[in-house]
Amino acid sequence: MVSMDTLVSLCKRRGFVFPSSEIYGGFGSTWDYGPLGVELKRNIREAWWQANVYTRDDIVGLDAAILMHPRTWEASGHVQNFSDPMVDCKNCKMRFRADHVEGTVCPNCGGELTEARMFNLMFKTFVGPVEEEAAVAYFRPETAQGIFVNFKNVLNTTRRKLPFGIAQIGKSFRNEITPGNFIFRTREFEQMEIEYFVKPGTDEEWYERWVAQRLNWYLGLGLKRENLRLRLHEDTERAHYAAGATDVEYQFPFGWSELEGIANRTDYDLKRHAEFSGQELDYFDDESGERFVPYVIEPSAGVDRSLLAFLVDAYDEEPDKEGTRVVLRLHKALAPYKVAILPLSRKEPLVLKAKEVWAALRPHFATSYDDAQSIGRRYRRQDETGTPLCVTIDFETLNDDAVTIRDRDSMQQVRVPVAELRARLADLLTS
Ligand code: ATP
Repeated sequence: MVSMDTLVSLCKRRGFVFPSSEIYGGFGSTWDYGPLGVELKRNIREAWWQANVYTRDDIVGLDAAILMHPRTWEASGHVQNFSDPMVDCKNCKMRFRADHVEGTVCPNCGGELTEARMFNLMFKTFVGPVEEEAAVAYFRPETAQGIFVNFKNVLNTTRRKLPFGIAQIGKSFRNEITPGNFIFRTREFEQMEIEYFVKPGTDEEWYERWVAQRLNWYLGLGLKRENLRLRLHEDTERAHYAAGATDVEYQFPFGWSELEGIANRTDYDLKRHAEFSGQELDYFDDESGERFVPYVIEPSAGVDRSLLAFLVDAYDEEPDKEGTRVVLRLHKALAPYKVAILPLSRKEPLVLKAKEVWAALRPHFATSYDDAQSIGRRYRRQDETGTPLCVTIDFETLNDDAVTIRDRDSMQQVRVPVAELRARLADLLTS
């Protein structure tokens, strides 16, 4: 498996992920997505939205605000309970999450640790010019609550029947005590969450279905089965209101860790918001004539963590004539660029033709263009960023109006008339 050092350096070198505010020396555990990273990230969101909104008939989208009424976080339990136990080393002053430390001594220097203190993970800010208690607001630590508070709005405007879901992708913020492992745990991150509302009594079945569907989503995008596992939460680790919780875990270079959590949250959230807001958040069932508060199944995934898993899983090295060929075997739907246009030489007639081919493809595919150095080097550069197809324009092209398509994985080449190029690329990218 690729080491984190190798991956982090590839990400920096090729423009996937940069340390944030690097010219100022970086800003602890924050990262910026570069030209390739932003494409990969968009493709992950798109694949998730496609699978969970567009191809289904029972889920609609939402984009709620990051800053919400502070009562939201009292109702959700975050003001009271969203804390981690924190310990400090009296010797080297390093800080750890108590539940991440085994034993009673500092993992860094062996020094004595302080007693555990609870630390709330929500970022606090003040709304308006006066920094007073009444103006306190929180950066949302999860996107889910924006969905719950809009339950009635969505129900009334879309006239949905149970079961139905609301999907949302957006930034969340947690003042993590020990961020780390690159983009795995950061203080600002992006979540992809669904709240799927069901009739009580059918919740167990839907929960099981969601666990299977979410695992399949990762498999369908190419993650290897042996690097994925499901982990059922112990009774003690589960939130008191949750009737069941399973994590999808991935085998990262630093060990098995959570990619996504799927929980049966019962009717807890809607009931709490009904209580704190004084609004009815229930559902009238036409068929049975009953009024009740739906149960909810929540699949909650991280964009950044998935991105890291997709990169780790795709990374491959194989020996070749020049030493080593590094290939990111990313699923075609995720690859940042789908097609690279490579003129064999920088000579005028060839470049004009190559630019013409490029311009014709740009509206249809995410493309890149590279005319620097030998063709072998350029293929390697595209392999290293996962580009599935390269289109080479050579001197013959000027005579036969045909180009060569080269496949990232098999390295096979086929010659195709320019007139058929777009259709062929589209076929190859969806096959
Ligand atoms: P952990 O135990 O790793 O702190 P969690 O159980 O608190 O995670 P959830 O609250 O279930 O995480 O959040 C759902 C998903 O959001 C996680 O599976 C993960 O993909 C993502 N996520 C949560 N916290 C972070 C973070 N600090 N950085 C990056 N992604 C995160």
